[in-house]
Amino acid sequence: MTYMPGKLAVASILPEARPEEIKLHAQGLCKTYGSAVALHPIELKIRSGELLTLLGPSGSGKTTLLQLICGLVLPTNGRLIIDGKDHTDTAANHRDIGVVFQNYALFPHLTVRENVAFPLEMRRLGKAEIQAKVADALAMVGLSTFEKRFPIELSGGQQQRVALARCLVYAPSIILMDELLSALDRQLRESMQIEIKRIHRKTGTTIVFVTHDQDEALAMSDRICLMNGGRIEQIGTPEDLYERPASIFAAEFIGISNLLRGKVEGAAFVTPDAALPLPPTCPLANGEAGALVIRPEKLTIANAGGGLLAGRVTESIYAGSETRVLITLASGTTVCVRRPAGLGLLPLGSEVGLAWAPEAAQFHKN
Ligand code: ADP
Ligand code: MG
Repeated sequence: MTYMPGKLAVASILPEARPEEIKLHAQGLCKTYGSAVALHPIELKIRSGELLTLLGPSGSGKTTLLQLICGLVLPTNGRLIIDGKDHTDTAANHRDIGVVFQNYALFPHLTVRENVAFPLEMRRLGKAEIQAKVADALAMVGLSTFEKRFPIELSGGQQQRVALARCLVYAPSIILMDELLSALDRQLRESMQIEIKRIHRKTGTTIVFVTHDQDEALAMSDRICLMNGGRIEQIGTPEDLYERPASIFAAEFIGISNLLRGKVEGAAFVTPDAALPLPPTCPLANGEAGALVIRPEKLTIANAGGGLLAGRVTESIYAGSETRVLITLASGTTVCVRRPAGLGLLPLGSEVGLAWAPEAAQFHKN
């Protein structure tokens, strides 16, 4: 949820929190094209005022879901509930939803001001009101002094801000952004991420943001909906997905994960390199194959002969605030360890042990 300092004190004296409002509910929504399934039936509730990211590899159904939400595409099955009302059959232009795509073309023959005023003119607002709203929207995206320019006189990032202002100007209650920042260079992308977060906080609009970039999703989102092959793989806060990935796919897609494949044999998880201890509760049954997943920052390097696994340093990379050490196990599996740069570089070829706290390791089925 958006942090609202003014409301905190009030909330804390209420007897119990009001259940969170649901802005949009995709109820068994699905889409097939002939025999191809673009989106399997999904169940998704988007909360009022949240910034929810649809994250997933190319072809996982993110754009299809956005198109279904905004009404550009009709579902094969399922219902779309917005503000408690069924809008499955509502025409796109009557849905009070704004859309900003990566290549959302501006009108080349109109100035910035005219581009942003366009949706208001379509809605036949008065001249003074249009002027005030356009000024507000341009101020919001930091383009107040660019009113009279034409799109061709703007950089790519500035054009996107105009597209964003053109959407913000009529204050839709939901804004959809599809790979909006994917074509921008890193620096511009990061500054736009901060800008979108600021606008989101300021307007309280519900935003559904699509990206295939996990870092962007972690940095931007109140919640992330991870998609895979037209299905929802996991939904939760960035911390949920990073700290508690629900599957091997989730663990591999978000952040760097070390994966050790093996099989449960009695009280141990047996990999080609070692028999490792199992936690008291483990989703794998005796005899079942799966993977132990552990983040690089949860591993510590022990002296040779110590720890739970033995390996040899094959790479030691200085990365500013940290060092990344690659350790190759006897089976050939390589494991990545991240440690503070202050600990220094380890000589290549040194024999080391690997250790971790039992709770840092997660076990998943194949
Ligand atoms: P994403 O946005 O995550 O990359 P899409 O929603 O665009 O994924 O596509 C999901 C799947 O649906 C893909 O396999 C894609 O080829 C298929 N698909 C999307 N649109 C169409 C269409 N108009 N006709 C046929 N297949 C489509
Ligand atoms: Mg897409």
